Amino acid sequence: MVFSRFKKADDLHIQGMDLIRQGEFAKARERLLLSIRKDGGPDDLSAVLVGMIDLRGNMGDVGAYRNLITSLKNTDAKEFEFGLTMVNTETMIKQSELAIEEIRITNMRGSGRDLVDKGQKLVELAQRYQTDVGEETLKLSEIYNNDTTRTGMKEGAMLMAMGYEAYATGTVWEDPRKAAEYQQIAYGYRKQMGDTGEENLRLINDYAKTCKCWYCGRVVSGLGIHFFALPSDISPALRTPPGREPLTSETEDHEAIYACRACHSSITKKADEIAQRYHENAMSEIRATEARMQAELYAIHSQLSYLRR
Ligand SMILES: [Zn+2]
Repeated sequence: MVFSRFKKADDLHIQGMDLIRQGEFAKARERLLLSIRKDGGPDDLSAVLVGMIDLRGNMGDVGAYRNLITSLKNTDAKEFEFGLTMVNTETMIKQSELAIEEIRITNMRGSGRDLVDKGQKLVELAQRYQTDVGEETLKLSEIYNNDTTRTGMKEGAMLMAMGYEAYATGTVWEDPRKAAEYQQIAYGYRKQMGDTGEENLRLINDYAKTCKCWYCGRVVSGLGIHFFALPSDISPALRTPPGREPLTSETEDHEAIYACRACHSSITKKADEIAQRYHENAMSEIRATEARMQAELYAIHSQLSYLRR
């Protein structure tokens, strides 16, 4: 079972395995490191077990996966025991490589084109999970989170959803209708995973929503991106009678009007400028008052010291 040349190393290895079974991971790690030192051979499974222990609570660490992969590739063992679980060496290598890819891709940042690129990579990774892991469980989740429901298929569905969400966010600036279609696909995957997909539905609704700008009359799609609701006092005479216009310029409750991004930003920019001027005027008033009061205080102090003499 253990390919070490010295009995001492084997004993330490067995002690390490027992400690893992008891959940004493720190102690197990110490024994296993000693076993590696005694044995010196690279094909010792102790290094694999240390690699497994180092991923505990650390499953976002690329370096930890790399170390594990190295020791897995160095062992001749086809499978090994970790706690109560038998782990296939090849399976663990494959899952660790996928995990590294997953961390790398999910950490990609950016906007527009970068997000579309990220979406593409997520979709490709999802397909690899579904074909390479399939109905097998993700071993580290099974061991450390006691979760046997996280399979390659389920991970794939999650990554598909994330991929299409990235496509949507990357596209909405140029093409909100296309982005709504991507959200619709992501929604399907979320449902498949047992999620509500509530956020996708909200975005589908917002992206597809179309209005006629109250100010300039342009027709525009994409609430929260290309047009916004601005609180307003719309008197009954100003309201559009229901059904008269195909596109609305106000919210259903008549509490806000819709403004396209161009109109909205020109208004908010001007408002900011005015507010900034008010702020500066107020500040200089305050400073002038402060200076006046300081001068008066000084005068009172000098009078007092004169009287005390
Ligand atoms: Zn407008």
